[in-house]
Amino acid sequence: MRVPMRRHALAAICSVLLMPVLSLITGCARSEGTEAARNQPQQTEGADLTPGEFLMGGIFLWGLWGALAAALDDPYLAEPPAEGIRVIEGVRVINADGSATENATITISGDTIQSVIAGGEADPKAVRVIDGSGKTAIAGLIDAHVHFIFPDLGTYFKFPTLFFIGTYKDKYYPANRRKYLQNGVTTVRSMGDPLNLIKGLKEKTDNYELGGPRIYYAGKMITAPDGHPSGLYSPGEVDEAVAGVGTVQEGEAVVDHMHTQGAQIIKIIYGSTTLFGGTAPQLNKQVMEAIIKRAHSYSPPMMVAAHVETLQGATEVIQAGVDAIEHVPGNAEALAQLAGDHRIFVTPTLSGPHRLIPTEAFETLKETVRAIHADGRATIVTGTDLPFAPADTGIFDEMELLQDCGLAPLDVLRAATVNAARVLGQGETLGEIATGRMADIVLLECDPLEDIACLREENKIVIQRGRVVFE
Ligand SMILES: [Zn+2]
Repeated sequence: MRVPMRRHALAAICSVLLMPVLSLITGCARSEGTEAARNQPQQTEGADLTPGEFLMGGIFLWGLWGALAAALDDPYLAEPPAEGIRVIEGVRVINADGSATENATITISGDTIQSVIAGGEADPKAVRVIDGSGKTAIAGLIDAHVHFIFPDLGTYFKFPTLFFIGTYKDKYYPANRRKYLQNGVTTVRSMGDPLNLIKGLKEKTDNYELGGPRIYYAGKMITAPDGHPSGLYSPGEVDEAVAGVGTVQEGEAVVDHMHTQGAQIIKIIYGSTTLFGGTAPQLNKQVMEAIIKRAHSYSPPMMVAAHVETLQGATEVIQAGVDAIEHVPGNAEALAQLAGDHRIFVTPTLSGPHRLIPTEAFETLKETVRAIHADGRATIVTGTDLPFAPADTGIFDEMELLQDCGLAPLDVLRAATVNAARVLGQGETLGEIATGRMADIVLLECDPLEDIACLREENKIVIQRGRVVFE
């Protein structure tokens, strides 16, 4: 476990500060613990500690503090950039069209797939050869709807975050980043997170400083003034995560700002329900239309994804030209027809709401997904809505729920790979194991085309940007 130097420095300072306390405790224990001590009341606390005991105590506390800091704040650093040639031999590769290449040799150079050849032989210059016999290779999974940096409950409930819990202070959630890679999720689409934090996390991930899935982000969620999800954020944080806009000019200005801040997607909230069943102001229809128009005016156009809650809301955003809808209202046929006519992306996020709403209502959402899939023209994409779905199982829950909605395992796999890559505008670089693509590969010991639940298996090898990040 790698702990940054500043933690050790902090541990050292704290140990020095804690030494008098230690000597006090030791001194008390001695004076009360033995006959001899009780017979010698003139000895005061800690006065008889030798320099050696002092030092040992300090080292002990330092170690204790270091372990505590490490346990609480494993920063989950990145593997170094991949260098040289790596090969996976004798592996079964599932292609995007559902066909399989048996006994394939995948050659990876740096972070890119150089070739995928049936049969084939390992490049003699390879720095590593992975035996893929008995294994199935799929492209790295994509979770296309996450909120990767959660609202700070510390500030939300008006108490200061404990200074030593760096995990919360940095808000980069190392445990979740690690869990995502372990599960085979090599890319995420952040659909609304505090702008500067998500931007910083993306930079650190891209630069091989921190480990975790590759990030594409929307930045601030655009909504009405005081609209959902403003209520989820503390006063100090809300303006970083949410942009409340009341006019066309304000809407366009936020789109421009997100563009300059490196956002790849624009996220609008087009609904009036809060998480807890209350109501909040909804984005004005003309403002919504202007936002979509502005985002599409860029070259290349920025995609716009809309959080929707009702058939009417979905209809309005789809007719205004939105590229993707997030969540699905429970109104099967009409929405399926509309989404199909406009060939949009749909991210149902079933694993999130699954945990929040009554079974009957949930079944109506599944009916909608069933109808959209049966229509076949819209593109279904996997998204968990983390943190509403748990990091450790969310992606698997989502994929199994899509399977429940009538998607064949291959369709589910496509939703999490090729389809999700396209909603990120990365249809040519991610989502497939093919020459020239990014080397994001998951090796499994089972066949996900038989049952998607196979993805839950623990014995994975996960490769991201050509580096083995989990095995
Ligand atoms: Zn969401």
